[in-house]
Amino acid sequence: MKFTVLGSGTSHGVPMISCECRVCTSTDPRDRHNRPCLLVTTDSGTNVLVDTPPEFRLMAIQHRLRRVDAVLYTHAHADHIFGLDDLRIFNWLQHAPIPLFGEQEVLDTIATAYRYCFVNTQKGGGKPQLDLAPIEPDRAFELGGVSIRPLRVMHGSLPILGYKFGTKAAYVTDVSLIPDETWPQLHDLDLLFLDATRKEPHETHFHFEKSLEVIATLQPKRAYLIHLAHDYLYAEDNASLPAGVELAYDGLEVSV
Ligand SMILES: [Zn+2]
Ligand SMILES: [Zn+2]
Ligand SMILES: [Zn+2]
Repeated sequence: MKFTVLGSGTSHGVPMISCECRVCTSTDPRDRHNRPCLLVTTDSGTNVLVDTPPEFRLMAIQHRLRRVDAVLYTHAHADHIFGLDDLRIFNWLQHAPIPLFGEQEVLDTIATAYRYCFVNTQKGGGKPQLDLAPIEPDRAFELGGVSIRPLRVMHGSLPILGYKFGTKAAYVTDVSLIPDETWPQLHDLDLLFLDATRKEPHETHFHFEKSLEVIATLQPKRAYLIHLAHDYLYAEDNASLPAGVELAYDGLEVSV
């Protein structure tokens, strides 16, 4: 199973509009962070996306994406959903609707934000064809031969989902609290992607120190910090991380 980080950034993206800081003006491509998106390619070649951020079209072109078999949504904040319309190309390529997996409330929000996709309109132009597939925390299902387990995490006061892929990898973005029932699912991992939005504490996200503390407790073989703001200069900050922990960047590929 291969994981490609298509977007490793926070909701503003890096560079951030109008910012002249040393990270936003860095020429290191690892200091550019599009909004959050993960591509999971199973051993059978099934492509599963986690979220569809505003830059999804650019990511799909850059990574020569040829299939999208399903999308898993973590939650319905703008940085995670507003690239959805560009899925329509894959409807044409695959001659089939694309299933969107998410909690009922998230699917309801998507259906409201993208109302035109779910009502009859005149022909022409083309709209995405989408199947809404409600899921619940801790009720695993299978895609491309891989067990997908939605994990309950808290994003401030908002309950959202992380995802576990098989038994050894998990993706947990936009998290400020991991509830007791989810901890056991995150032990004994080979790979963990974990939110570390800022260096300073944040109401609705893990910050750098908190994220490192959680990683030290869980002890995954490898961990990547995601949902990054312009607080991190790759060349400096990645070198200072503990063994087995790295900053994610756009285009990062990891296999387990
Ligand atoms: Zn976010
Ligand atoms: Zn900046
Ligand atoms: Zn969010």
